[in-house]
Amino acid sequence: MQSFTYERAANAQQAAAAVAARPDAKFISGGTNLLDLMKLEIERPAHLVDISRLPLDRIEETAAGGLRVGAQVRNSDLAADPLVRSRYPMLTQALLAGASGQIRNKASTSGNLLQRTRCPYFYDRHMPCNKREPGSGCAALQGFNRMHAILGTSEACIAVHPSDMAVAMSGLDASIETVSPDGEVRGIPIRDFHRLPGTMPHVETVLDHGEMITAVTLPPPPPGRQVYRKVRDRASYAFALVSVAAIVEKSGDRIRSARIAMGGVAAKPWRATETERGLAGAAAAEGVLNDAAEAALAGAVGHGANDFKIPLAKRTVRHTLATAIKGA
Ligand SMILES: Cc1cc2nc3c(=O)[nH]c(=O)nc-3n(C[C@H](O)[C@H](O)[C@H](O)COP(=O)(O)OP(=O)(O)OC[C@H]3O[C@@H](n4cnc5c(N)ncnc54)[C@H](O)[C@@H]3O)c2cc1C
Ligand code: SF4
Repeated sequence: MQSFTYERAANAQQAAAAVAARPDAKFISGGTNLLDLMKLEIERPAHLVDISRLPLDRIEETAAGGLRVGAQVRNSDLAADPLVRSRYPMLTQALLAGASGQIRNKASTSGNLLQRTRCPYFYDRHMPCNKREPGSGCAALQGFNRMHAILGTSEACIAVHPSDMAVAMSGLDASIETVSPDGEVRGIPIRDFHRLPGTMPHVETVLDHGEMITAVTLPPPPPGRQVYRKVRDRASYAFALVSVAAIVEKSGDRIRSARIAMGGVAAKPWRATETERGLAGAAAAEGVLNDAAEAALAGAVGHGANDFKIPLAKRTVRHTLATAIKGA
């Protein structure tokens, strides 16, 4: 591991200023992703600003009827919170489907949103990877790409974002609150937060260098039943092949509204907004769900070893919608 200097921030703005002051500085939160990457020298920050002890670990009700989740709330605490469990059950389901108990005890809300891809070539410094080393190429395009993306890819990168939590937050229309070194606060809708790879896969979010996440705000829970379904190679401690967060509100035999967010398919949580619009007012019938699953994956492209993800994602969308409808 490359040597680095370390400081503990006194408050959020000071932390932001400390990182902004040096191009080679990074925030460290739970460290469960960053430290692994540093040990492999995939990430080589020369200075770490520790934000893990800042008082950003509260979950508070907002005046609008939602929740404000501090950036330092641990994944375990967020999953177990009684208000989250009762009002945003798919967020609890998504969190508990991620990592292991020990990692969730350490992992923070902000670090989870900003965790890096699990593409094996990103972790292998002997292989070309545009995300790790811009301009070097993408070994996954012709390589072992079973876990890779089928939507929103580019010739430069086909990696997926690995977070489960972010998929549920996408379905809930969360907003990410940040502070800049000059104290400016901004709210970024989660749909705009992560970037698709395009020609710059190493730029993964819209954050500026030094801009720090302070909280995630969840709007009031949407009407309807929430379900998170993760499909993976083994039942625990594995990243998603495909995951779906669905919310369905019913009126009699018809669907009043629906939301669909997918994980494991793109470099960001993927909302199927066109499909959601098509479901509003439709009959809650099998044929409608099959059509919705086809529509949600329209435009999906496989890269060989991950071709199976397209039918898998369709079946997972259909199954998750059907489960949500049953309890709606
Ligand atoms: C074996 C293993 C299995 C896993 N399985 C899953 C899984 O199935 N599903 C899943 O979703 N996740 C999984 N994870 C990932 C885990 O959820 C993440 O490692 C964790 O959420 C990262 O949080 P952290 O606080 O430790 O982040 P850190 O490692 O501290 O930071 C991650 C990144 O975020 C940046 N950062 C952190 N906080 C802020 C902030 N407030 N503002 C700006 N930048 C910030 C850091 O600079 C760093 O670049 C797994 C991890 C491991 C090690
Ligand atoms: S898919 Fe992305 S992360 Fe993986 S090798 Fe290609 S450029 Fe790197």
